[in-house]
Amino acid sequence: MIQTDIVIVGAGLSGLSLASYCTRAGLKTTVLEKETRLGGAFHSHRMSDQPDGFWLELGAHTCYNSYRNFLDLVDHYHVNEQMLPREKLPFKMLVNNQIKSIFTQLNYPELLLSLPGLLYQKKADRSVDSYYSSILGRKNYHRVFRHFFNAVPSQSTEEFPADVLFKSRSRRKDVLKSYTFAGGLQSIVDAIGKTDAIEFLTGQEPESIERADGLYRVRLKDGTCYATGTLAVATPAPVAAKLLQAVHPELSGYLAQIQTARINSVAVILEKKLVPFQPVAGIISPNDLFYSIVSRDTVTDEKYRGLTFHFKPEISKQEDQLRRISEILGVTTAQIAHIVTKQNQLPALRVGHYHLVDKIDRNLAGKQLMLTGNYFSGVAIEDCVSRSLSEYTRVHATPG
Ligand SMILES: Cc1cc2nc3c(=O)[nH]c(=O)nc-3n(C[C@H](O)[C@H](O)[C@H](O)COP(=O)(O)OP(=O)(O)OC[C@H]3O[C@@H](n4cnc5c(N)ncnc54)[C@H](O)[C@@H]3O)c2cc1C
Repeated sequence: MIQTDIVIVGAGLSGLSLASYCTRAGLKTTVLEKETRLGGAFHSHRMSDQPDGFWLELGAHTCYNSYRNFLDLVDHYHVNEQMLPREKLPFKMLVNNQIKSIFTQLNYPELLLSLPGLLYQKKADRSVDSYYSSILGRKNYHRVFRHFFNAVPSQSTEEFPADVLFKSRSRRKDVLKSYTFAGGLQSIVDAIGKTDAIEFLTGQEPESIERADGLYRVRLKDGTCYATGTLAVATPAPVAAKLLQAVHPELSGYLAQIQTARINSVAVILEKKLVPFQPVAGIISPNDLFYSIVSRDTVTDEKYRGLTFHFKPEISKQEDQLRRISEILGVTTAQIAHIVTKQNQLPALRVGHYHLVDKIDRNLAGKQLMLTGNYFSGVAIEDCVSRSLSEYTRVHATPG
């Protein structure tokens, strides 16, 4: 039996940020990650090992100067030295296979009549559909904005809580408004991953979790067993529900109520001259096979352009995905220099989610168990890091 101070399950940014707080406080920290790489939704695919090689994002792509806790991590690991501005480019719509400006799609009289609703409509306990259609106009919402909102968490946001989707946060004026890093957002993962004080076990997941003599016992598939005073679970909620079923059944029941949305992401890298449209930040296509196309144009490259298509869960066959990509780009698959795929997932939150989070937090009180992830106050990077910080503070930094 291996003794450690804390075992963290899951090495996405939630688990990694928590590992950072724990090791900085001198705790012996072990991180278990099911995949062979660290980072979860932080996944910058790099075409080569060269520092100036082309890269693009398979998951998270944009950070803001309002991500204060995230920026503290970035500063701590000196990744701020690799910060790059994101070029200000427009989001476009694909309508009847033609790229259009959003502004040509809006009904302005309806927008002007609806916008005053901003002054008196409340976001709390309302769905994205109910709140935003009341301040943008029903037709505008259905024809244009709904598709942009769906693109944020890559799922239908009809029943998604309006107050979780966008939040106002105070900005750090000394930092670029929106940024990435040389080599992509994964640079922060790489930096945390190099921390010698953290034991990372990749390709490993708990086979079972038990509780005995005031400790959690985390047994791995190969029979190795860790005994730890504190356990942290930083996986998607349904995985956390399964892992905790035996030790904390009531908590597991709450976690099992949180669903996830799956996303089939396909990234393509092409020579610049092959892409038939001007640089864009992204493209939304109403009622298409994908929620969004996220572009790498925000950081220009001399030779390549890269586009990541976030396909709906039912579009899982690569031939269907590549057929649609070829149609939009007007290229054959053979002309694409590089194709990479990734299965992403995000929580499918529902109105009233905060009540469920309250129950989870009340159940956690007094336990040496930390739960972190993107299913608490929101799915944004800052929400994940902030949750990890508050869980670390609750269990390890609160006096008494
Ligand atoms: C396509 C996409 C684009 C996004 N873009 C942005 C953006 O631009 N800006 C922004 O602020 N946010 C963005 N987000 C949201 C944000 O990136 C995520 O919410 C956040 O990175 C999630 O981090 P996490 O650690 O909570 O979860 P994840 O990154 O999902 O990590 C969970 C980890 O747990 C591991 N795991 C699962 N099961 C087990 C197990 N049994 N044992 C061990 N390990 C396990 C997984 O392999 C994974 O590594 C985006 C998300 C996606 C999917």
